[in-house]
Amino acid sequence: MRLLLIGPPGCGKGTQAVRLAEHYGVEHISSGDLLRRHVAERTSIGRAAERCMSRGDLVPDGVVMDILRRPVEAAAKRGGYILDGFPRTVQQAESAYLVAKALGASVRIALFLQVSRPELIRRLLDRGARDGRTDDTAEVVNHRLDVFGQLTEPLLDYYSGRETLITVDGDRPVDEVTRSAISQLGAALQHRAGRIEQIG
Ligand code: AMP
Repeated sequence: MRLLLIGPPGCGKGTQAVRLAEHYGVEHISSGDLLRRHVAERTSIGRAAERCMSRGDLVPDGVVMDILRRPVEAAAKRGGYILDGFPRTVQQAESAYLVAKALGASVRIALFLQVSRPELIRRLLDRGARDGRTDDTAEVVNHRLDVFGQLTEPLLDYYSGRETLITVDGDRPVDEVTRSAISQLGAALQHRAGRIEQIG
C-alpha cells in the first residue's frame, strides 16, 4: 500500500493517517511532523523552515524532498507507507513521481479528505486553544486555507488524470471517516486489480 493523503489543514489527515497505517500495516510518514521535529531540534533545516511554517506558508519544495527521501525509500522497501501532507504542490508531485518511478513504485493511490471551510476553521481554532500549535491562530489558519486552495487543490486534477483519486467526506465523526476510507480504498484496489487482469 502506497497512499498519498491530501487535504486542507484541519481535515483530520494526521488522525486518519495513523489509523490507515495501522490497518494496512505500513508506515505513517508526516511531512509536517518531520518538519516540526527539525524545528524543535534547531537543525539548519528547522531554522530555515520555521519562518515559513509560522506564517502558514509552504516550506520550499527542495527542503521537503530532502527530509522525505530517505524515510519514504526505506518504507517503500518495507512494504509501503501512508504519506500525510505530501505532496502539497504539483511540482512536489512531479518530483515524487520521478523518485517513485526510479524505485519501481510509481502506482499509488491519492486519497482526498474533503471538509468544508467553516468546519476546518472551527477545528483548527479548537486545536490551537488546546495544543498551542503556533500556526493554529485565526490569521494563520485563514492563510493556510488560502495556500491550500491556491497550491494544493490543483493536485486533485493532477491525480484524477493520472492515478487513482478517491474523495472521502471528512465532515463526519472520525470512525465513520475511517470506515468509509477503508471501504473506498478496497473498492479502488479491486477495480485496479481487475483492470490489470484485463490488460494482462
Ligand atoms: P501539517 O502538519 O501537514 O499541517 O504541516 C504544517 C506546516 O508544515 C505547513 O503549514 C507547511 O508550512 C509545512 N509543510 C508540511 N508539509 C509540507 C509540504 N509537503 N510542502 C511544503 N510545506 C510543508
